[in-house]
Amino acid sequence: MKKILITGAAGFLGSHLCDRFIQEGYHVVGMDNLITGDLKNIEHLFKLKQFEFYHCDVSRFVHVPGQLDYILHFASPASPIDYLKIPIQTLKVGSLGTHNLLGLAKAKKATILVASTSEVYGDPLVHPQTEDYWGNVNPVGPRGVYDEAKRFQEALTMAYHTFHGLDTKIVRIFNTYGPRMRLNDGRVLPAFIGQALRGEDLTVFGDGSQTRSFCYVDDLVEGIYRLLLSNYHQPVNIGNPDELTISDFAEEIIKLTETTQKVIYKSLPVDDPKQRQPDITRAREILNWEPQVGRSEGLKITYEYFKSLPDEILFESKHRFE
Ligand code: UDP
Repeated sequence: MKKILITGAAGFLGSHLCDRFIQEGYHVVGMDNLITGDLKNIEHLFKLKQFEFYHCDVSRFVHVPGQLDYILHFASPASPIDYLKIPIQTLKVGSLGTHNLLGLAKAKKATILVASTSEVYGDPLVHPQTEDYWGNVNPVGPRGVYDEAKRFQEALTMAYHTFHGLDTKIVRIFNTYGPRMRLNDGRVLPAFIGQALRGEDLTVFGDGSQTRSFCYVDDLVEGIYRLLLSNYHQPVNIGNPDELTISDFAEEIIKLTETTQKVIYKSLPVDDPKQRQPDITRAREILNWEPQVGRSEGLKITYEYFKSLPDEILFESKHRFE
C-alpha cells in the first residue's frame, strides 16, 4: 500500500485530498497544527486504519516513521484575512515548512507536490495568467507574506528538483470553493452565503468590478491527483477559467439563496487583484484535465453544506484570531 503524507489535512483542501487518497487505496498520514484547520473536516476518517493523524507544526520539524511514497504540502493560512492576522506563521509555513518537507521527501525518496497559488501572479498585468507570466507582486504589502512565501516555496522546490533530483510538482491553485470552507474565513463565497443565511446585506468590496474565476473543489482535487502522478515538474495552473465580476457573483448568490437582502459596498482591501483568470492550456495538454462542474451546480452543493451547519457556527461571526 502506498503511503502519502498530507499537510494541512484538517483544512478545506487538505481534508478533500485525504478523502480522495483514501478512496484511491492509499495509507494517508494527515498532519495539521489546527491554527486554521478543523478536526471536524476529517473526523469521519479517524475510524479507518488506513488513516492516521499527527498534530504537528511543520514549520518546526517533521518526523514520519517508516516508508513514505508521496507528500502533499497543503499547510498554510490561505485566506487574505487569515494571513493578515497571522503573517509570520504564513511566511514560516511557506518557507521553513516547505524546507522541512523537501528534506523529508529527500530522506524518504518520496515524490512531493507543493500547493502554490495564483497569488504568485500578484495583481496581474497579463490576462489570463499563463504559467510563464512572472507576476506583479508587492513584497511589502499586506498580501506579500503569502505571495512571497509561496514564490520562495516554488524556488526552493525547483532547486531541490534540479540540484538533488527530487521528484517535485508545483500546482498553482486559483480560487476554489466547496463544502468545508470556513464560514468566517473572510473569503467571498463563505462571506456572501453566510450573510444571506444570517439575513445580512452582502458586502461587496470596492465597486465590485474586480473579477475572479471559481473552481469547484472536486475538479481541483482531480487536477492535483493527475499532476502528482505525472512526470511534469514545472508549475501548472489549476482553476476554472469561467471568470465573472464580484458584483455579478453577489447577484448569483442572492438568486441562489433567495435572500431579500441587498448589496452594500465597502472599501477595497489594499492590493486586492483587479482581475484573475487561469489559462489552463498547460493542464489540458499535460494532464488532459479541465473542470467538469459548472458554477451553478457547485454553488448548489456548497449552499446545501452551509445550510446544514448548526446555528452556533453560522452566528460565530468573530474571526478565529480575535
Ligand atoms: N470580497 C468582497 N466581499 C467580501 C469578501 C471578499 O467583495 O465580503 C472580494 C475581495 O475584495 C476580492 C474577491 O471578493 O476582490 C475575492 O476575495 P477572496 O478573499 O475570496 O479571495 P482572493 O481572490 O482575493 O484571494
